[in-house]
Amino acid sequence: MSQKLRVGILEGDDIGHEIVPVAVEVAKAAAKLYKVDIEWIPLPIGRRSLDTHGHTLPPNTLETLHTLDGWILGPIGHRAYPKGANAINPHPILRKQFNLFANVRPTRSYPDIGCLRDDIDLIIVRENNEGFQPDRNMLVGNSEFRPNDEVTLSMRVITRTGSRNVARAAYELARQRRKHLTYVHKDTVFKLGCGMFVEECKKLAIEYPDVRVDDVIVDTFAMRLVRDPQNFDVVVTTNMFGDILSDEAAGLVGGLGMAPGLCIGDGGVVMAQATHGSAPDIAGKGIANPYSMIESTRMLFDWLGHSRKIPEVVAMAKAMSDATTKALADANARTGDINGKGNTATMSEAVLRAIQ
Ligand code: ATP
Repeated sequence: MSQKLRVGILEGDDIGHEIVPVAVEVAKAAAKLYKVDIEWIPLPIGRRSLDTHGHTLPPNTLETLHTLDGWILGPIGHRAYPKGANAINPHPILRKQFNLFANVRPTRSYPDIGCLRDDIDLIIVRENNEGFQPDRNMLVGNSEFRPNDEVTLSMRVITRTGSRNVARAAYELARQRRKHLTYVHKDTVFKLGCGMFVEECKKLAIEYPDVRVDDVIVDTFAMRLVRDPQNFDVVVTTNMFGDILSDEAAGLVGGLGMAPGLCIGDGGVVMAQATHGSAPDIAGKGIANPYSMIESTRMLFDWLGHSRKIPEVVAMAKAMSDATTKALADANARTGDINGKGNTATMSEAVLRAIQ
């Protein structure tokens, strides 16, 4: 393979220090198998970076990210950061600066791990940069404010471009899968905001005649996601609905340890990022489920392999997925959150064994 990939490693906080190294080790083993040339670049971020470099997102980390093909970002526990100008939440900056407008979050059943059904295979595509999230929907200032002690206002930002971008990413995914796209909204109440999102989803349908499209109101969708998740393929929605629904979806298939994700944008770079937070309650115990991070990393390489047209990288991603599936079938290896008797180390060993 002639093309070298440059991939960053940003461990994040808490269980990030346990599951990101596993994901990297698994990716390295798969890369070796298919002779994929990867330069790995560890970069400081998060609480440890504040202690060692004086900033949770040091300028050098940000500059280096601009030179990479993609990176693996571990979960960030920003709520526990001390107050201070240098102790910022890096998420909004990363997603905004690299225009990572779509957060792709798959949900999939595996046997015996405590899934509510055995036939779930869906992807929620969450708009990533606007909506209700006040930490990222403004250039300057904050969209939540309190004019007096009695009143708080939270504003949602919906744009045509943001809606179109995330919808297009979802249509493209649907085209590669079962060709069914559901857009989720509440335009019955949010006639302008959700209305604009729906208009943009509908407009694009003409470009994807092969994709069957339907729409579901968000509260009905929350119910149907529990009752008949097998009927959904790709689902696209606005930021906060997507945040909530993807955690609900994870609950169907064993919980947050089974919830990977990939942030994608207009083609430049990708960021592997699991759906869950930094899980401080289990950090340091060696019991975190590494699946979410390994699978997010696999998604990163699958995306890079396809977009850069490097078959070895696609094959490498497939090897990662086969190995994870095998490890998940071993109750002695897999972690306790998914009906296993093992821990982070046994599960990692099982995935690595399956690759070799
Ligand atoms: P955030 O708001 O930052 O997403 P959160 O408040 O949703 O975070 P998490 O850190 O995601 O909280 O944790 C929620 C629960 O899921 C915790 O009990 C945690 O231990 C569990 N959890 C999260 N990730 C994993 C994992 N990889 N393996 C096992 N359990 C996990």
